[in-house]
Amino acid sequence: MARKVGIYTRISRDDEGEALGVARQRTDCERLADLRTWQPVKVYEDNDVSAFKRNVVRDEFELMLKDLKAGLIDGVVAYDLDRLARQPRDLERLIEIFDERPRLEFATVTNDVNLGSADGRTMARIMVAFANKSSHDTSRRIKRKHLELAQQGKSNGGPAPYGWRRDDRNKVDPEAAKHIREAQKEVLAGVRIGTIRTRWQEEGLGNPREGTKRMAHHHVEHILTNPRLVGYRTYHGEILYDGDGKPVMGEWDPINTVEDWEAVCAAIAERKQDRAGQSLARKYLLSGIARCGLCKAKIRGQVNRKWQPGSKGAQYTYQCSKVNGGCGKVGRVGEPVDKLIARLVLQEQREKAKATGIPAEGRWPREQELEDRLADIAQLIEAEKAKTITLSTLLQLLPDKERERDALKLERARFYKEQKQAEAKGSTANMTEEEFFDLPIERQREIVLHSLTAVIIHPAGRGKRKFDPALIDPVWR
Ligand SMILES: [Zn+2]
Repeated sequence: MARKVGIYTRISRDDEGEALGVARQRTDCERLADLRTWQPVKVYEDNDVSAFKRNVVRDEFELMLKDLKAGLIDGVVAYDLDRLARQPRDLERLIEIFDERPRLEFATVTNDVNLGSADGRTMARIMVAFANKSSHDTSRRIKRKHLELAQQGKSNGGPAPYGWRRDDRNKVDPEAAKHIREAQKEVLAGVRIGTIRTRWQEEGLGNPREGTKRMAHHHVEHILTNPRLVGYRTYHGEILYDGDGKPVMGEWDPINTVEDWEAVCAAIAERKQDRAGQSLARKYLLSGIARCGLCKAKIRGQVNRKWQPGSKGAQYTYQCSKVNGGCGKVGRVGEPVDKLIARLVLQEQREKAKATGIPAEGRWPREQELEDRLADIAQLIEAEKAKTITLSTLLQLLPDKERERDALKLERARFYKEQKQAEAKGSTANMTEEEFFDLPIERQREIVLHSLTAVIIHPAGRGKRKFDPALIDPVWR
């Protein structure tokens, strides 16, 4: 039996006049459903509701989520991902349902994204993260009057965003910019936004609201991913494009290069994918990495209840625990184990770095291709404007070009993200143990996991008090 799918369409205000109307979206979606031999049973149609405005409820979108959850439909076909979910939040809600109900179908007319696969989700997340910041979609170019309004908006008198000087919002505040770049580097190296937020709150960074040091998680995320960092002008959170499809640049001095900024945005979007199902932040270096030498169960760190600041004795121990399914027979004082492992791991990485040298710097090799694609798109739009081609021809030609452009942009973001990640992580070659233990715990754990898959803690003989490194067994990758 054919699978029953819902079709989702939305006309946004930006389509005004250019009429990629609901009817056309629906026809295209139906054709796609046909190709996949699915049976469209219901059309969900939101009119003139912008998906990127927060707090705007899209009734039909909500209804569709409900139907999907309840099993009334077995999948969704939409014109493009943008129309379906401009907010990461909406995308996550959709993905949640795909998680709960395996084998759901998903397709969009303009992009080849499949929410049913892990890869497809990552891609969707990255695309939505970018779309949320930048209006890629040329059919949604902002009208001249909006642009002018935004440009006038420069003197709105609000406080300068974090990173720029309070007395002159066009000039970089070098101190703040340094903190932003450091935090971005940490993000690329695997540090959580929450950790950065805690540190910033302690140090009073990031322009917290008057009279408080508290900052919202999304506020910190915004500071690190703001398009303003590369000089892009935004309007309602979207990057503004001029008639040629180039981002409109502000008058202020940028803090990031486009590559740096895109890498950070991609890393954060990808992280959201991994976050699901992951437990809370770890407190101890080897929690879950250490395993019991007798029963091989994972061992966690736990605080020693008798310990107080200034007192002798162990502050924390690694203990095989019956609660976690272990035998409960093996435990070890934590600190000497951590020190031993840090020393061994740093030593190994130092030697490896010596042997392999430093990873090569390089530009993304397909930059020209992307520029050609952008030029093609601009040319098509120009041609339609000049009436050399019809609107319907334009809309036939555009999706392919847009798909190629999006795929290239995604590839570029990934390229630089990986490069920056390698850079941020590649700095263990000259790291001392002291520097290692100064790093946030996630970063320390990443460094350890780079070299080791596990640390086996063998039982110590009865009454054996002295720490014996021979009973700690690192398992190298
Ligand atoms: Zn055990």
